[in-house]
Amino acid sequence: GERLDYEARLARSGPNEVLAVVRDVTQQKQLERMKQDFVSAVSHELRTPLVGIMGFAELLLEDARLDPESLEFVQLIRESGLRLKNMVDNLLDTNRLESGRFEVNRRRVDLTPTLRDVAAAFRGVAQLSGIAFEQHLEPLPLLLADPDRVGQVVGNLLSNAFKFTPKNGRVTLRARARGGRLRLEVEDTGPGIPPEQTDRLFQRYGRTRSALERGIGGTGLGLYISKAIVEAHDGHIGVNSVPGKGSCFYVELPLEGGRV
Ligand code: ADP
Repeated sequence: GERLDYEARLARSGPNEVLAVVRDVTQQKQLERMKQDFVSAVSHELRTPLVGIMGFAELLLEDARLDPESLEFVQLIRESGLRLKNMVDNLLDTNRLESGRFEVNRRRVDLTPTLRDVAAAFRGVAQLSGIAFEQHLEPLPLLLADPDRVGQVVGNLLSNAFKFTPKNGRVTLRARARGGRLRLEVEDTGPGIPPEQTDRLFQRYGRTRSALERGIGGTGLGLYISKAIVEAHDGHIGVNSVPGKGSCFYVELPLEGGRV
């Protein structure tokens, strides 16, 4: 809209007006820059106390003197801290995406250890929330990827799956290599997503109506960032969902010589 508007006005205007429009755009860029600096400063400030909370929660978890009830409270402190840390990290990443400073460093790796580590971090969540967590990880060939960033995507998908799945439900993580591509799946038995809303979820701040209505926390940034990461890998991210039954988010990454 901005550009068209500028060109239309340019066609109709004298030199002074052109100058005014150019100044307008500069001002908008400046504002955008200020917003980015602000978000970045706040996010970094939030991280410091969070590291303290999480660090001492970890220490307490290893304290053998804790009774079972206190132990559960400490676990809850840690899970909430993790969620908050995730949100802060997402804000920082969105900032980096918007200012072109988002980095993806691909190298030849086996993603299996990454997947195992990320999955292990969710064992506590599964236990606390009474959700079964299944993993089907087949041996994977090497591929060109940034393991931290792929781990971030899988972590985000798992975090969503556990957030939306009710007690006694199930979350399944799968990884396999087939036909020149690596396929990762995170399936849940949550509420599912109406088909007409699935595209929106991968956009910035995109959330389903039901998540908004039921007041489920979130920023709508996780899938937006995940999509950017997957596309930086020449891959594809999507979801198959049956409302009322559950969702299956999938990521496909090209193996060497393969295509997605
Ligand atoms: P956030 O979870 O912080 O809101 P995401 O970008 O990760 O941000 O997710 C965007 C939205 O997609 C969520 O708010 C929710 O509406 C929907 N969504 C994501 N994962 C699931 C899921 N497993 N089941 C149902 N809805 C989901």
